[in-house]
Amino acid sequence: MTGQEYRRIVVKIGSSTLTDNSGQVDRGFIYRLGKQINDIRHELGAEVLIVTSGAIAAGLEALGFGADRPTDMPSLQAAAAVGQLRLSQVYAEAFSEWGLQLGQILLTRFDTENRNSYLHARDTLERLLECGIIPLINENDSVAVDEIRFGDNDTLAAHVAVLVKADLVILLSDIDGLYSADPRRDEDAVLIESIGSFTREIVEAAGAAGTSRGSGGMVTKLEAARICMAAGIQMVICEGSRPNVVIDVARGESLGTRFSTEITKSHSARKLWLALSGQVLGSIYIDAGAEKALREKGGSLLPVGIQRVEGEFAAGAAVDIRSLDGMIIGRGLVSFGASELSQVAGKSSDSIRSDVDLPSAAQVAIHRDQLVIFY
Ligand code: GLU
Repeated sequence: MTGQEYRRIVVKIGSSTLTDNSGQVDRGFIYRLGKQINDIRHELGAEVLIVTSGAIAAGLEALGFGADRPTDMPSLQAAAAVGQLRLSQVYAEAFSEWGLQLGQILLTRFDTENRNSYLHARDTLERLLECGIIPLINENDSVAVDEIRFGDNDTLAAHVAVLVKADLVILLSDIDGLYSADPRRDEDAVLIESIGSFTREIVEAAGAAGTSRGSGGMVTKLEAARICMAAGIQMVICEGSRPNVVIDVARGESLGTRFSTEITKSHSARKLWLALSGQVLGSIYIDAGAEKALREKGGSLLPVGIQRVEGEFAAGAAVDIRSLDGMIIGRGLVSFGASELSQVAGKSSDSIRSDVDLPSAAQVAIHRDQLVIFY
């Protein structure tokens, strides 16, 4: 048991948990989920939001695309349009048996990147919760294009959790947590029960462990964990098919893999939004000195500590800050575009002033107010 009481919980259900191989929505699963959510509300007094996948899978099945799945965007988006409606119908019917009402919200990354839309989405979600309605959230797959897609619902669930200041995210998967190696190939693989910060081993284990269906896999779950941990939100990866898994995790039972962090000074909501809501367009590799300064002093990232820049991006873009061995240690908004950053990388402020023709005000590569260190 964690001894913690949760107030607001985001439950994410992956396509592989929700649909069978032919894309049929598993009504029985949704009905049992409804019971657990009803119990969580009454027994634990917590609010619940659902992030559900399965629209595309359900739509492909409805359109008769089952066996040879199309890959072109219009077909997938048409499938999402048909499938989302089916999916919501199944949820609405099954949940009504427990007296639960749902409100559907379909988001794209545009809605989290744009401050105005972000605040509106937050207000709507808050109001739904106040009214005792369970938000049923998915990506707006039928209109989202690459530039504004989350692409996976693990990341979407983490953003929703930050948006509504949830204290727990439960990711229901087809595997019971993160293993030290891929359990399908390595019999020595062991379940990692608790993660307080990322190590090279954990990142490598996640890279190796794919899950069979759904677009997630472990890499996107780790990305969701980074976002949650930066916001001081616990996250649990567990097996969706285990009976009563949602209520058991909500009660604090040790199940699956639990990510948590002892965040003492939590970032402000605005800073989390600034640093984490945008699509990551590149990476900045920094030396050990800069890493130490960011971690221990909470300063801005200066050009002098930058060793290498990767990706194409303009000033204001979100980038990952990585150590030289590639570990992601933070994320933030750059003051320079990629080519200018490459010009100033490794240079002291004095030499930038004398050698490089750039506005002197922009001496900082990423300002401290626009960057979040993950752990
Ligand atoms: N939004 C997609 C769907 O509903 C699923 C994305 C995911 O599973 O991560 O089909």
